[in-house]
Formats: sequence, C-alpha cells, structure tokens
Amino acid sequence: MSDTNDINNTEVIGDSVYTYFRSGFTSIRPIEDNDKIPLFCPICAECMTSGYDDSYYRNYTCCYECATIWAEPDRERWKLGYRPDHSEIENELKIRRARCCSFSF
Ligand SMILES: [Zn+2]
Repeated sequence: MSDTNDINNTEVIGDSVYTYFRSGFTSIRPIEDNDKIPLFCPICAECMTSGYDDSYYRNYTCCYECATIWAEPDRERWKLGYRPDHSEIENELKIRRARCCSFSF
C-alpha cells in the first residue's frame, strides 16, 4: 500500500478522483456517493421496497414504516439520535407480519 507522503497530487475528473503518486502510479476511484439508499432499513433490517422508502430514508435514514412509527411523531428526538430498542423493533415487526393481506375477485 501507499502512504499519504507518497501522494503528489489529487484531482477530480468527471465522477472519479485521480490520485497521482510520486512513485509513478495513479489511483482512480469513484467519488463517494452518499446518496445511495441501502437495500435494508438500518433500523428494522427489513428490505426497503416501498415507493416511499427512498424519500423517507433521505429524511430519516430509515424505511417509510420506521419513519412513520418512530421518527415522524417526534422529529426532534429522532434528530438528536433516539432510536427504538431491540424489543420495540421486534414488537413492530410482529405487527407488520400479522397484517392480513386478502384479495377477492
Ligand atoms: Zn425500517
């Protein structure tokens, strides 16, 4: 590996960061994309498949369901770092899984 003393120059070209090393090689890596939405909610660990999950994740860093239950009712507390404990999450997941989905034709 290289150390930071070996770095000669760094520049951004397009979507990539080019780091030029004095030893002669160049490292090219993508710019960090902090807007990525994870596949699973960081709170409940459920897959984020709802059409609302993207926008709720950007606001609360959790899925739509977690946001409406824990984040939105007390936004200030959420922004200060409150998160539900394991038992609260487990209870909520039981409720979600118990929801009945019926179809009639
Ligand atoms: Zn969630």
